[in-house]
Amino acid sequence: MTETRYWDLASSVGATATMAAMVRAIASRGERPLIDDPFAEPLVRAVGIDLLTRLATGELPPGHLVGQAAIDGATVRTRFYDGYFLDATNAGIAQMVILASGLDSRAYRLPWPPGTVVFEVDQPPVIEFKTGAMAGLGAVPSADRRTAAVDLRDDWPNALRASGFDPHRPTAWSAEGLLGYLPPEAQDRLLDSVTELSAPGSRVATESRPNPRPGDEDRTRKSLDGISERWRTHGFDTDMAGLRHFGARNEAAAYLTDRGWALDALSTRDLLAANGLRPLDDDDLRMSDLLYVRGTLAD
Ligand code: SAM
Repeated sequence: MTETRYWDLASSVGATATMAAMVRAIASRGERPLIDDPFAEPLVRAVGIDLLTRLATGELPPGHLVGQAAIDGATVRTRFYDGYFLDATNAGIAQMVILASGLDSRAYRLPWPPGTVVFEVDQPPVIEFKTGAMAGLGAVPSADRRTAAVDLRDDWPNALRASGFDPHRPTAWSAEGLLGYLPPEAQDRLLDSVTELSAPGSRVATESRPNPRPGDEDRTRKSLDGISERWRTHGFDTDMAGLRHFGARNEAAAYLTDRGWALDALSTRDLLAANGLRPLDDDDLRMSDLLYVRGTLAD
């Protein structure tokens, strides 16, 4: 794929953050939703991609445009990272870093203990937009929210330090929905930097995708092309497959373990079962095997 250097929430990889928030908005509705992200819908509306707004508000039913697998996947993913951060605060960690924060509203929505600092890192237009949109909604952060507006393929540790990050304090890191959008070597560099910046007792959570088996990626591309095509007929021109980096890469779980992290891993399949949700019927994107990993840096 061609490397795009710059995007906002309506273009290129940035639009995937708006898609993720749109699915959270859908997952937050219904009779007995398992998540509640009250900011997802107004943030998607603020970005202004017509199709995503109509889906987020419920004006357009998800139907064949957003499958149940995506909705249940977003539900378990949101609960996984919410639980991870709440456990970290219970363990006394007061410095959080959300890498690729997109339209994540945790700095406003989770009950952080006093004194907690939450850093959000993403591309400058993404950070700027969300900060302004949340202020426009009258939302007040529930932690000391700081931002580092920087490309995660560049020297983001420097930008993070400049916004007040202290590498001597234990940190809880998250990289949610990010790694597949980074080139393989940028993923390695990012995980190396996370490790280098982590004081003993720090924690990390991310997804680890098993490397593709023969034929997997063709099925994934075809499925993503189908979604893009359906969305295009509703006026949203995107190329989902073109935004992802395909091909083998270091699997994040093994890579982090080799660097001293003690991790637990749960697959999407495990998380669906743990949340009382049905296994995925149609899994061309091989979501069931995606691992959610979390763990601590050994001393
Ligand atoms: N973590 C958020 C969530 O789960 O809702 C957003 C996930 S969205 C699928 C991917 C995010 O990664 C976008 O916000 C995008 O801007 C960010 N991202 C991807 N590559 C990046 C890069 N090189 N530098 C900064 N941000 C990046």
